[in-house]
Amino acid sequence: MKKAVYPGTFDPITNGHINIIEKATRIFDEIIIAVANITGKNTLFTTEERLYLCRESVKHIEAVKVVEFDGLTVDFAKEIGADAMLRGLRAVSDFEYELQLALMNKYLDKKIDTVFLVPDYRYLYLSSSIIRQVIGLGGRPHDQIPAVVEEAIIKKFEERELKDLKD
Ligand code: ADP
Repeated sequence: MKKAVYPGTFDPITNGHINIIEKATRIFDEIIIAVANITGKNTLFTTEERLYLCRESVKHIEAVKVVEFDGLTVDFAKEIGADAMLRGLRAVSDFEYELQLALMNKYLDKKIDTVFLVPDYRYLYLSSSIIRQVIGLGGRPHDQIPAVVEEAIIKKFEERELKDLKD
C-alpha cells in the first residue's frame, strides 16, 4: 500500500493539479491532497473554500482524499504515514524552487523523497494565479479548470466588487 501526499496551496485547484493526481494514481495506491491552511490575506479563497473545491474536483477519482494541514509538510507526511511527497513540475520556472524545497525536505527527514510528475503538455504553463487573473479580467478558460472552480472564482470577484462599492 503506497501512499503519497500532494501538498500545495490549491488557490484554486486547476486541471493541471488534477492531471498530476490522475497520473499519480497509476503509481500510488492512495493520494492525500494536503491543502495548506494559510490564514493570511494572500489567498483568494479561504482554507475551507479551497478544501471544498478540491473535494468537488476530484470526487470522480478513487483513492484520493483531501485534507487540511499546517506546519511542516514533512511532519504531516510522517504523521499520516506517507511513503513519498508528490509535486508537479511545469516549465523551467518551477525547477529551481521545487529542487530547493525537495532538498530542504530531505534534509529535514531523510526518509521522505519527493516524486515529481510532469503534466500533459496542455497544462505545462497553467497556474492558479494566471487563472485568477484571467477570470478577474473577464476571460473564461473553461477547459483549464473544473466548472465548480470557475463558478466559485466568478462569484468571489462579484462579491469583492459589491464590497468595494459599499466601502
Ligand atoms: P504551492 O504554493 O505549494 O506551490 P500550488 O497549489 O501552486 O502550491 O502547487 C502545488 C504543486 O502543484 C506544485 O508542485 C506545483 O508545481 C504543481 N502544479 C501547479 N500547477 C500545475 C500544473 N499546471 N501542472 C503540473 N503541476 C502543477
